[in-house]
Amino acid sequence: MAIIKIENVSFSYDEDLAHAVLKNIDLEINEGEFVAVLGHNGSGKSTLAKLMNGILLPGEGRVLVDGMDTADDNLIKEIRKTAGMVFQNPDNQIVATIVEEDVAFAPENLGVPPEEIRRRVDEALATVGMTKYARHSANKLSGGQKQRVAIAGLLAMKPKCIILDEPTAMLDPSGRKEVMRTIKKLNEEENITIILITHYMDEAAKAKRVVVMNKGSILLDETPHYVFQNAGLLKSVGLDVPQSTELMFALREKGIKVPLAVINEKECEEVLRDLLEGKIVTDRG
Ligand code: ADP
Ligand code: MG
Repeated sequence: MAIIKIENVSFSYDEDLAHAVLKNIDLEINEGEFVAVLGHNGSGKSTLAKLMNGILLPGEGRVLVDGMDTADDNLIKEIRKTAGMVFQNPDNQIVATIVEEDVAFAPENLGVPPEEIRRRVDEALATVGMTKYARHSANKLSGGQKQRVAIAGLLAMKPKCIILDEPTAMLDPSGRKEVMRTIKKLNEEENITIILITHYMDEAAKAKRVVVMNKGSILLDETPHYVFQNAGLLKSVGLDVPQSTELMFALREKGIKVPLAVINEKECEEVLRDLLEGKIVTDRG
């Protein structure tokens, strides 16, 4: 069953579709998927994300979240509970001083009974690995920790889907890793549908499906292995390939016949081992 269904959606910020920043988008995301969305600045990724939980409404077409039309005012609360959003700036998402109060904020607003809130907060903090910070001051946390608290705040609403709009863009490398580990865990262990907008190719390579946007349209919607073999096409729309893939292309240029379908460190390591063991042919004798 589709958790997000985007049907022939066009959108313009000035309501004149002659200036549409999204044009005739069709996209269906099923429950349990892990989808990365790539695209150059201004290609429409954030706009698309905001359409996915009713922050913005389509100018044309419709968006269904777990079957609920985002244009229906009566459903908007339920839609926001089903599909939560994480934004780029960790500081803008903290609403309470103490970590556990922050996580409890949304379910409190929804009128969830106190014992149930306690249970959900504890569970959510455990899932994102922040249990021991429950009583800490939220604004003293690192960026990566703040993003994990923001994710816990969504988890406390029991969402089926989480949309993350460049959640690691403002984080240092260790913060990025923490957040990526958490996202993967949510998908693999909690079966939460993940839509990850990112400009890091290495992060997109962790998804099972990659959607590439260009100028308000979907250019590619394929597996990461497929997408990253198209280095030329990606470059033409201002995108790159993961470092591991880049290395394979460079080795090929030197006449070393490594496979190009390499998108992460593990696959890269395997190829390099084969190369060292003489299992890969080179033109250089
Ligand atoms: P991305 O997230 O891929 O960088 P956006 O969805 O933010 O792209 O932007 C898509 C287009 O819409 C860009 O041309 C951008 O300038 C424009 N845009 C984004 N937000 C607004 C806004 N609030 N008002 C008017 N135009 C906007
Ligand atoms: Mg954006």
